[in-house]
Amino acid sequence: MKNLILSAGVFTLLLSSCFFFGCKKDNSTAPNSPGLISVNAKDYLSANNYDKLIIQIQYVNGLQPSAGAVEDLKTFLSQRLNKPGGVEVTYSNINSPGKSVYTINDIRAIESINRGVKHEGRTITAYILFLDGEYSQNTSNLKTLGIAYGSSSMVIFEKTIRDLSGGLGQPSVSSVETTVCEHEFGHVLGLVNNGTGMTTGHQDEPHGKHCNNTNCLMYYTAETSDMLSNLLGNNVPVLDANCINDLKANGGK
Ligand SMILES: [Zn+2]
Ligand SMILES: [Zn+2]
Repeated sequence: MKNLILSAGVFTLLLSSCFFFGCKKDNSTAPNSPGLISVNAKDYLSANNYDKLIIQIQYVNGLQPSAGAVEDLKTFLSQRLNKPGGVEVTYSNINSPGKSVYTINDIRAIESINRGVKHEGRTITAYILFLDGEYSQNTSNLKTLGIAYGSSSMVIFEKTIRDLSGGLGQPSVSSVETTVCEHEFGHVLGLVNNGTGMTTGHQDEPHGKHCNNTNCLMYYTAETSDMLSNLLGNNVPVLDANCINDLKANGGK
């Protein structure tokens, strides 16, 4: 029994670290997806140029994210974005690209062939790909769960998430999906100091475009017992006041 508890604890600690250690964000100079109009964080946050958002959820067959996670993401975005025309989601599926390991170039190539939504008129779009393999930069004890790799493009390593969640002593699959999706979309919204300026200094600079508040959704890692219990309770971290203030100052709410 002791071994069981210990192993569950170690596994959860590893997973919680992976959320944020494993998150990578190309900086704002990352090229846009092929054929897409260049958009920036403010285009998502304010209604000046775009008043509606359509998110394309594209998944490899069998790896559709849970409905609850997608609803949570929609709610999260509706609370922060000025999109009077609403936030909508479309689903589409693709056959497996056939790899067990994917590079960013592989992921960009999949998007360029399969992305169906393009910014048009006053509708801005985002693309989230749910993949069946792991990230090429993973190590034996550091697994990437999601990457915001373009100004409107994110990948979620759904197979990795399912491998590491949903079991005894682990957070639920949907709570991990929600956390990773919202964290990556946070980068697309310009957090932290990633296209949306800071109203108060709160960037954890040694860890890139992340927040220095250990309880914030945009914190780079989660190593405390508080976070473990949050995850075990399936409580998805939320944005702290500094991150919300930044979004408000750049056209969000
Ligand atoms: Zn991140
Ligand atoms: Zn924050």
